[in-house]
Amino acid sequence: MGDTGQFAEIIVDISARSVDRVFHYAVPADLKDRVKPGARVLVPFGARRLAGYVLGFGYPERNIRVREIAGVLDDEPVLTEDLLEIARWMADSYLCTTAEAFARIIAPRLGVKATRAVKLLKPAFPARKSQEVLNRLKHAPKQAAVLRQALLNQSLTRKELAAAAQTSPATVDALVKAGLLEAEILHASNYQEENRIVHSSGGVTPLNADQVKAAREISQALTEGKFGVFLLYGVTGSGKTEVYLDAIASALAAGRQAVAMVPEISLTPQMIGLFRARFGSLVAVLHSGLAGRERYEEWRRVKKNQAPVVLGTRSAVFAPLSAPGLFILDEEHEPSYKQDDHLRYHAREVAIKRAQLSGAAVVLGSATPSLESWFKAGCSGPYQLLKLPHRIDKKPLPQVTVVDIRQELKDGNRGIFSRRLVAAIYDRLQKGEQTILFLNRRGYANFIICRECGHVIKCDHCDISLTYHLDGTLRCHYCNYSARLPSVCPCCGSVYIRPFGAGTQKVEDEAARLFPAARILRMDSDSTARKGSHEKIINAFRQGEADILIGTQMIAKGLDLPMVTLVGVINADTTLFMPDFRASERTFQLLTQVAGRSGRGKLPGEVLVQTYSPDHYSIAAAARHDVEGFYRIELPLRKSLGYPPFSFLVRMLFTHADEAEISKGALLAKEILDKILAGHDNLIEALGPAPAPLGRIKGRFRWQIVIKGRRRSELRDIIRQCLDDLQKLRPSFKPAINIDINPQGMQ
Ligand SMILES: [Zn+2]
Ligand SMILES: [Zn+2]
Repeated sequence: MGDTGQFAEIIVDISARSVDRVFHYAVPADLKDRVKPGARVLVPFGARRLAGYVLGFGYPERNIRVREIAGVLDDEPVLTEDLLEIARWMADSYLCTTAEAFARIIAPRLGVKATRAVKLLKPAFPARKSQEVLNRLKHAPKQAAVLRQALLNQSLTRKELAAAAQTSPATVDALVKAGLLEAEILHASNYQEENRIVHSSGGVTPLNADQVKAAREISQALTEGKFGVFLLYGVTGSGKTEVYLDAIASALAAGRQAVAMVPEISLTPQMIGLFRARFGSLVAVLHSGLAGRERYEEWRRVKKNQAPVVLGTRSAVFAPLSAPGLFILDEEHEPSYKQDDHLRYHAREVAIKRAQLSGAAVVLGSATPSLESWFKAGCSGPYQLLKLPHRIDKKPLPQVTVVDIRQELKDGNRGIFSRRLVAAIYDRLQKGEQTILFLNRRGYANFIICRECGHVIKCDHCDISLTYHLDGTLRCHYCNYSARLPSVCPCCGSVYIRPFGAGTQKVEDEAARLFPAARILRMDSDSTARKGSHEKIINAFRQGEADILIGTQMIAKGLDLPMVTLVGVINADTTLFMPDFRASERTFQLLTQVAGRSGRGKLPGEVLVQTYSPDHYSIAAAARHDVEGFYRIELPLRKSLGYPPFSFLVRMLFTHADEAEISKGALLAKEILDKILAGHDNLIEALGPAPAPLGRIKGRFRWQIVIKGRRRSELRDIIRQCLDDLQKLRPSFKPAINIDINPQGMQ
């Protein structure tokens, strides 16, 4: 404990705003060595015993009775120094309690103890000697095969190694005896024998000139140990992953650790392969799809610095690294980097904060960067822009054609598939090539579209599509403007004006009817509810077991499927008219990502985009592969409407089971907010209250207030005050409140 103080400063694990502060506890002599910053302890609190997190040591301010720590929960601190700091920063930034932030950071339940010792074998000579050793084994091909596998995989068990080299364990034993392989003991709770063996011969792919330039900038920052954020903007198929791998190698060379994040669990198997091929057993995988024990084992390897390379989804940003040097977010524009339950943190923001604390580099990679990142990588910074403008091997980007489905209706085709798309699919079936059919459902809302002219009814004040409610009204979910459903299109007078939508199931049925001989697979959140089913569907498709893959946004990203030569977007309008100010941006990003799935192999790719709005700038720009052209139009539009990145938005979401309570509560909250705002300048605007686009989930009604302002810290202060004021009105004020700072969607 040293000279710093007598008492441990502890955050008690209780999620109430009123007790979200540091408490002091005395450290009994027998626990002295184990009570360390970052450790979890057991403390008396009122009449209860609760868990707590040790922040550090100090003296209580007033002369109060200090109680004693009752026990220590972990043999070693579970939190690193910088994560202690991150928790306090999260509490401040996202208006949650510090205990909630801690709970999020250590999300994998860390209660499991290691039970089994596993013996892993690795080469007993330095890598540079490998060719020499292999030459010596010229006359023992089986032993050479084992050694090659050992070099490729680093740490496998005796049995795994024999299986990988297709030989007997006796051959492996011979190499151990000869001193060419040595054992390393891993204490694992549940050692996973599957999915560890890398089959592709790994090693380093030579980088092209653009990749070298980007990699050099990042590695320079890593060598200097200075904080910096890089936006790696590379067209689909331009080889961003190779730049990531190179940057990770630089981080390791500098004696630091790296975290690489991908937006969806479904993308990890492909990445794991690439990462293990390059870094072998130095890679740990952390994501929520892992079972508790497996996750604990990986977490422990990271904590013990046995795995300095962490690959995972959003939550990997909290990896317990002692000296983080690099944080990578692949597809940084993806909304899934934002946690969407009660603690709505953004992995990009946390990564940047952690990097600031530890002098690390952040690499944000995307073919279609978020508007916010693009804006920050502009001429004035603060991000540095790195470009990969060409596909690897100069492969052309696929030909994108926009199909106007208003014309189909005029010509008497009322089906989901245009004649052009039907012909293109038929052509692929004949040639034995593969097709992906894409339909976005996320953010789906019942907007009203004219099927003859494509007109969508929007709010006059917010430029947001109005949502259709079953009582026949149309409503804006930002400002609560409402209107009756018109009987004819206000634009062209057509009677074909109605709610919009078709699901993946319907697309599958129609495809089966049109192409009875085709083998069809469907991938969406319904068909992939079971663990590992993503992988199964993708593998089956990659191995040519189906002709057509139908899916939602899950299939849009990152997958490399060389036999796909046609991508059909069933309807681009589903995202284009989401009730969200990011609708155009999301549409552009999705179309570009989807188009990037086509023509990645030797055959050229084609993309057909069906839409009612063929002239919309985000669709036209995606069809031209004109990323920068899109930003040139979208940025001034955002500016004129005062949306991010020119402002900050906060959503206050109110939920309650009783419809009367929810509207009453939301109105009361708005009143209080208006009172607070009266004391501020008029640059802050509070819109609503209005029902959320998803007005009711699991029996709870949902209303929202959207607050818009220039400075994030000012917005936060106002909301904090509003929350405190509302707290005083309980229990007569009933709704639960959820705060979303910089929301990525407003469903
Ligand atoms: Zn409005
Ligand atoms: Zn019309």
